[in-house]
Amino acid sequence: MDNPRGKVSGKMSRVVLRGAIELYRVPIMAALGVVRFLATRELLDDAILCATCGAEIAILGLWECGRCGYTWAGWYFSPCEICGDTPPYISCNVCSASTANPLL
Ligand SMILES: [Zn+2]
Ligand SMILES: [Zn+2]
Repeated sequence: MDNPRGKVSGKMSRVVLRGAIELYRVPIMAALGVVRFLATRELLDDAILCATCGAEIAILGLWECGRCGYTWAGWYFSPCEICGDTPPYISCNVCSASTANPLL
């Protein structure tokens, strides 16, 4: 009939399996985090390419927030430290076309 030992080992193997999944999940999540971090770093380069003419647009410099007027040195697309405003695009200084914020 019912074999209690089989039941216990079945429960045990489920626990072990869950443990193994957890064990693999952590480094996978960590690896994904690193990839996301690197992708963000890539976007936070000191220049991006214009979507229209391909010219380099410098995004590292001294900027003034369009909403509150706060001025800071850093990345154009990073949120304002005071009001959190994030510019949706940057204008190319070669062809004047706009390139969307790659972080949005
Ligand atoms: Zn351009
Ligand atoms: Zn601001």
